[in-house]
Amino acid sequence: MDNAISGQRLNWKRETMTQAANTLQFYNTETKRKEPFTSIEPGHVRMYTCGPTVYDFAHIGNYRAYVFEDVLRRYLHYRGYRVTQVMNLTDVEDKIIRRAQEKGITIFEHTVPFIEAFFEDLDTLNIEQAEHYPRATDYIPQMLEIIRTLREKDYTYERDGSIYYRIAKFQSYGRLSGIRPDEVKSGARIDSDEYEKDDARDFVLWKGRKENEHFWESEFGPGRPGWHIECSAMSKEFLGDHFDIHTGGEDNIFPHHENEIAQSEAASGVKFVNYWLHCRHLLVDGEKMAKSKGNFFTLRDLIQRGHHPSAIRYFLVASHYRSPLNLSEEALKASHAAWTRIMDFHTRIVEIIQRKVDAPRVEALDAEWKKFVTQFETHMDDDLDTPRALASLFDFIKESNKILDANPIAQSQAKQLLDTLKRVDTVIGVIKEEEALLDEEIEQLIQLRQDARKQKKFALADKIRDELANQGIILEDTRDGVRWKRR
Ligand code: AMP
Ligand code: ZN
Repeated sequence: MDNAISGQRLNWKRETMTQAANTLQFYNTETKRKEPFTSIEPGHVRMYTCGPTVYDFAHIGNYRAYVFEDVLRRYLHYRGYRVTQVMNLTDVEDKIIRRAQEKGITIFEHTVPFIEAFFEDLDTLNIEQAEHYPRATDYIPQMLEIIRTLREKDYTYERDGSIYYRIAKFQSYGRLSGIRPDEVKSGARIDSDEYEKDDARDFVLWKGRKENEHFWESEFGPGRPGWHIECSAMSKEFLGDHFDIHTGGEDNIFPHHENEIAQSEAASGVKFVNYWLHCRHLLVDGEKMAKSKGNFFTLRDLIQRGHHPSAIRYFLVASHYRSPLNLSEEALKASHAAWTRIMDFHTRIVEIIQRKVDAPRVEALDAEWKKFVTQFETHMDDDLDTPRALASLFDFIKESNKILDANPIAQSQAKQLLDTLKRVDTVIGVIKEEEALLDEEIEQLIQLRQDARKQKKFALADKIRDELANQGIILEDTRDGVRWKRR
């Protein structure tokens, strides 16, 4: 949808926020307990989310992480926070270089199509846009700046044209993952971007140039950055030295995030991140879904098999982010059924509003929705407990349906129900609004189109007409103005 339209609808959504009464708390990987959340800057959350390595299509396991981060972001909005989210794109890395070399093309030629596919997938899964998507290759000077500072503070050493981080010098190395720095073999180094869990070693900050590899000139000699320094540089650039939340999948805890802490704190001298949140892996037959294991599905694979994007999103949202989740055909079917129940309820309320039948308020229904909102917020406040929050949504739908079977309700009440549902869906993100546009929304869009035409923004006007046509709304320009009807 055009930005002007989606922007307008987004503002409308935000206005319906309330301030929940409970304390919002998150499980912090670093302290290994749930902690009440307070932002460094009142009302504003700054968060960094490790993004994709764009050497191939992201798999649905990656999207478990991105959907979890999306729910986190959306719930922070729901609670009234402004959020500045950064998601990096790792566009230089061992695998990317290997693949580009195999194809005889540059790393940029190799990554661009996968970056485009990634943004398409985010849209398909109704993942809200982060504020910044920096690409690693655009921040090489910032990475070099941190390496320079680390060298001045004697955290680095050089071997064979590469610069390494001396982890034994960083006092609290291991505090995130629990891996003890005294397990490090003195001088044992690691060059690869990928290495095994528990293998604590001095890691590479700047890799000396190898033949046929893309490289940058630097004061440390020609070369390219290691993976970990990318995130330290891009988080600093957009969020500063100290920010609120850093997230990723559980495989990011060690070595990636442990190394980010070591680099960033040694360079800045201040605490890097207040809350570390990690989601458990998406599994297939009990094993981590991963490209290297060959047991992966892309989002496109699942859609091709006939799964609806909203049902896939529901599947990812409905489990708690810290529980393992197993992908199976049955689980996706169950998710489809659950999502359909939400959509049916939504349609039922929309139809009540469209029929414009009015009746006295039903008090029992007021009590149900108040109870539901309290429960929903209580569960979401408790470390984003989506399974319980959704269970209370289904209780609410069941009880409301019983009441609606027995009584006509007041229009004001129906609108309140719809508002509640939409407000909850600003977090869950599975209701396909477009599939059931309300009369007043249609009229708003028509007005927007008229305004666009007056301002001679014909492309925008046409876009709005096409968008409405996609929703089954036909426009007729008559002498008395625009008339519309449903197809
Ligand atoms: P990568 O492209 O491998 O750097 O991964 C991007 C993000 O997806 C990181 O936050 C990973 O931790 C996360 N991730 C990778 N595999 C899975 C999985 N099977 N389940 C959940 N998250 C994953
Ligand atoms: Zn990262």
